Amino acid sequence: MRAHLLSLAVAAPALLLGLAGCTNPPSGSMESAATVNQMGAAAVTAQRLINADNEPGSWLAAGRDYREQRFSPLDQINDTNVSKLGLAWYADVDTERGQESTPVVVDGVMYLTTAWSMVKAYDIRTGSLLWAYDPKIDRAKGADACCDVVNRGVAAWNGKIYVGVLDGRLIALDGKTGKVVWEKQTTDTSLPYTITGVPRVVKGKVIIGNGGAEYRVRGYITAYDAETGEQAWRWYSVPGDPANGDEQPELAEARKTWNGEFWKLGGGGTLWDGMAYDPDLDTIYVGTGNGTPWNQKYRSPGGGDNLFLSSIVALDPNTGKYKWHYQTTPGETWDYTATQPIMVADLNYPEGKRRVVMQAPKNGFFYVLDAKTGKLLSAEKFAPLTWATHVDMKTGRPVEVPEARFDITGKPAIVAPAALGMHNWHPISFSPETGYVYLSVHVSSSTYASPDKFEVNLKGWNTGIGFNAASGVTPVIATGKAPTTEGYLIAWDPIAAKEVWRVQNTDPRGGTGVMATSGNLVFSGNHAGEFSAYDARTGKKLWGASTQAKVVAAPATFTVDGQQQVAILVGARGLPVGQKRTVPSSANNSRILVYRIGGAATLPTDMPTTTASGAPVQVKIDPPLLTASNETVASGEMLFGANCAVCHGAQSVPAAGSIAPDLRYSALLNARGGWNGAVREGDRAQRGMPGFKATLTEEQTDAILAYVIKRANDEKAAQEAAARP
Ligand code: CA
Repeated sequence: MRAHLLSLAVAAPALLLGLAGCTNPPSGSMESAATVNQMGAAAVTAQRLINADNEPGSWLAAGRDYREQRFSPLDQINDTNVSKLGLAWYADVDTERGQESTPVVVDGVMYLTTAWSMVKAYDIRTGSLLWAYDPKIDRAKGADACCDVVNRGVAAWNGKIYVGVLDGRLIALDGKTGKVVWEKQTTDTSLPYTITGVPRVVKGKVIIGNGGAEYRVRGYITAYDAETGEQAWRWYSVPGDPANGDEQPELAEARKTWNGEFWKLGGGGTLWDGMAYDPDLDTIYVGTGNGTPWNQKYRSPGGGDNLFLSSIVALDPNTGKYKWHYQTTPGETWDYTATQPIMVADLNYPEGKRRVVMQAPKNGFFYVLDAKTGKLLSAEKFAPLTWATHVDMKTGRPVEVPEARFDITGKPAIVAPAALGMHNWHPISFSPETGYVYLSVHVSSSTYASPDKFEVNLKGWNTGIGFNAASGVTPVIATGKAPTTEGYLIAWDPIAAKEVWRVQNTDPRGGTGVMATSGNLVFSGNHAGEFSAYDARTGKKLWGASTQAKVVAAPATFTVDGQQQVAILVGARGLPVGQKRTVPSSANNSRILVYRIGGAATLPTDMPTTTASGAPVQVKIDPPLLTASNETVASGEMLFGANCAVCHGAQSVPAAGSIAPDLRYSALLNARGGWNGAVREGDRAQRGMPGFKATLTEEQTDAILAYVIKRANDEKAAQEAAARP
């Protein structure tokens, strides 16, 4: 136990009494997670995971079971009574960055991870914190995380809890105490590798990948002995330095699909999220990421498929031996990863049942593959993508729209989706009862262009993408039409390969996780700050509750003393529109929320007007007057574009959903010393802002400051103009 634990457990005493007084009897076959407690904490075995349907009161893994369908057989909460769902308890969490983990609930305990790879264990009866573990990551490591210092959850196995840590460590914790049993560095710490994904335990081995393909790394996945941490096998997704030979025979074949000295930047292809296991076929399915750099012109001059980027790959979990692959986006050049959630399912085709692997990756096609052979069964658009017209079912290859390949045409192109994808890491769910897959869709497009030259950046991103809007060049639009940005939840029929229903989100930004249940329900949150339940067959909204926070993670459901409950971790990238802060420990109202029928707890309504450090929550734009010369500002604009824009946004306007601050509002614009401390000396490295002293002169950081002051004054003038009657 650690000293700060008690301050984290904030469930109201009255609420705890309410739970203790719960008299609902356990329903017949539905074994409660709490009743299997005698087996010990986190006593997950292969048999329990394989037979997860016999133990619906638990949520044994982030994806619930090996197939990762995220479908619960529980039906106590169903389409007839979900309107009575209320908050049972909640707990504030102590990190204010994105919260992406799905709780694992087993043997009476809920385990979840929060930002910075921290782990927390709660008593599911009372909501009280049992233990918390902080891997104490050097906060400067945040600069290597492309997309926030997030973590998607733990694996439970044989009394231990496994967490992949942002700095590349894999750590085994005692499920009862949270004490470290073993830890292993899985990456070269001199390279910008990160871990945000969930470890999976198969055949007594913990399997973990990593990320970093925006930077300069080579993708791989590694299996470690779950008891000792000893490495069992490693599988690389792309070939390495030819001088060192190929680690796997298939890499010799893959090498023929690459050109140039691609290995010098690692090649990318990182396996940072999707994975599923089929115990019958004894096969794991993993997804690989984009290339490094994104722009294929600079990565593999002359083209080529660049195997095994953006692929679904089947491996032997005992040895890591390659079985088959399907490449979703050959010669990837738009950051179209295929490391999104993967699931295994039996589909009831008219000609008979078939075991399949399904994925909805960034590129906007929904793929169904035969689980045994990798044969493509269907690939249809689940969103209005413009980079390809269709997938040729004979060859299995996408038929590209020539204008989309900006790296070949030399012309900037507006392509859909943007790099964030039509669907990203957000968990998807399959209901064997409806036969539908449920997923959130985020429609986007963006301009892709090749800069005049590509220079390797040792500290930041290496995308090889650049476009100067002021250049006077008009980008071409792939397929003649760029879709409007929007977000929605869909039910997808994987046999008919078409959308069945859609729920439009009022806030179009970003995706969210999904869970389906046997209660004919689909649970999903949104960026407007609501957690809702929908009719799984029609999409009709049946229930909703305010979360006071954006929701990107996926829910889990389980039973407490026989009564079904639903949990969701909330909080991500700023507050919903119109929402004020109600959590002292986090700026984005990060919390774990747990619901049950008749739950009567309420979230606090008192809104602090200042942050924990005493700063006002609402910041007014207040830049100093611009005194620098036009030349200095112009130089600052170029330098900003090359060094700052990837995080702080083009022209110093952060993209929707960005986690980096809007510098136009920064108090440092009035304080050159503080600006230099942050930008040059790394004063805020612990908050994820690295120092640029090694690469930028003081004259250059002054020019960047002048440019941001100019942009802040532009914004102030625009706001004043808009406010005029
Ligand atoms: Ca990427």
